[in-house]
Amino acid sequence: MIPISSVRLDEEIENEVLGVLRSGMIAQGPKVLEFENLFAEAIGVKHAIAVNNGTTALVAAMRMLHLPEGSEVVTSPFTFVATLNAALEAGLTVRFADIDEGTFNVTDESLIEASTDRTTCVIPVHLYGQSAPMDKIMVAAELRNWKIVEDAAQAHGATHNGRAVGTYGVGTFSFYATKNLTTGEGGLVTTNDDEVADRIRIYRNQGMRQRYQYEMPGTNYRLTDVQAAIGIPQIRRMHEITLQRQHNAGYLSEHLSTNPAITIPKIADGNSHVWHQYSILINDELRRDSVLEELNQRGIGAGVYYPKLVHDYGCYADNPQVVVTETPIALNVTKRVLSLPVHQYLSTNDLDKIIESVNEATRML
Ligand SMILES: *Cc1c(COP(=O)(O)O)cnc(C)c1O
Repeated sequence: MIPISSVRLDEEIENEVLGVLRSGMIAQGPKVLEFENLFAEAIGVKHAIAVNNGTTALVAAMRMLHLPEGSEVVTSPFTFVATLNAALEAGLTVRFADIDEGTFNVTDESLIEASTDRTTCVIPVHLYGQSAPMDKIMVAAELRNWKIVEDAAQAHGATHNGRAVGTYGVGTFSFYATKNLTTGEGGLVTTNDDEVADRIRIYRNQGMRQRYQYEMPGTNYRLTDVQAAIGIPQIRRMHEITLQRQHNAGYLSEHLSTNPAITIPKIADGNSHVWHQYSILINDELRRDSVLEELNQRGIGAGVYYPKLVHDYGCYADNPQVVVTETPIALNVTKRVLSLPVHQYLSTNDLDKIIESVNEATRML
C-alpha cells in the first residue's frame, strides 16, 4: 500500500529527543522556545506561540481576539471539523461561505456574501496547503473591521504573493501526525500583533504571567519540549520537504492532465502551494466512490477529504450557533473530491503506480 501520509523520524530527531529526555526537562521549556523562534523566522512573522494542538490554537486565537459578545464568524463549510468545533468552543456563532471550485478555498466575495452585520471575524482555511486569496480578503476585512483567523493547519510555509500564510491575521497551525510537519500532536499560533501574542502566551499557561500571578482565567494548552524536539529538525528542513511535495504534485499533474475523467488541482496566481493533499475532482460525481474503492484495491492509499460539508451532521442540526446557508459549490465538491498520496517519501515508482492506477480506475467510467 502506498499510504496517503507517512511519518519518518530520523536520527537527527532521535538525537534531539534524547537530549530532552536526558535533560530531565520534559514539559514546556527551552526547546519549545526554540521551536517557536525557528518557525517564526521560517515564515517571517513576529510571534509564534506553541500550543498542544491545532484545535486549541484556533480556540486560543479566537478567544484572545476578544471579539464582542454575540459575534458571528464566517468560515468554509469544506474543512476539517476542528475549524467549526473551535469556533463553537470559543462561544461564537458560525456561518459558512461557499468555496471556489478551482482552489477549494473561500474567497473575499463569498465571505462578504455570507457575512452579516454581526460578523466580526472571518476564518479562511488554507485547504490542502494552498492559501486563500488573502490580499483581497485583507481588503474586505479592513473595510468591514473584521478580524482574521487563518486556519493554516495544512499549509506550513505556503505563500500568497510572496507572503506566508499565518502572517495576515492570527495564524493557526497543526503539527498532528498527518500534517506536513509533525510533533505527533502539536499546534502553533502566529501573529504580528504584540498584544494578541502576549494574551495567547498567558492564556495557554493558566492565565499566569509570573508564578502564581494570574491575569486572566486561562487554561493549559502547553506543548512539551519532547514534542518540540521532534519538530525542530523538520522546521529546519521545511523548504526541502515542500520542494519534494511540489515536485511530486508537478509530476502527478503533468501525467494526469490528459485524463478526461478528472480535473487536476489548480494553483491560483501568486500562490506557492505546499501540497498537504493532492486533490483531484472526479468529473462524474456518481463514480467517485467506485474510483476510490478501485484505487484502494490497487494499493493506493487515496482518501476523501471531506465526504460531507462540515456542518452536515446530526450533532450540529439543532445548534443555534451553527447557521447553515446553501453552498452549492462546496456541496458538489464533497461528492467529487479525491486525494492522492503526494508526500515527500514517494519514489518515482510510487508516482508512476499512482498515475497508472488513476488512469485505469477512471478508464472504466
Ligand atoms: C488538522 C486540522 C485542524 C486541527 O488540528 P489538530 O492538531 O488535529 O487539532 C484544524 N483545521 C484543519 C483544516 C486541519 O486540517
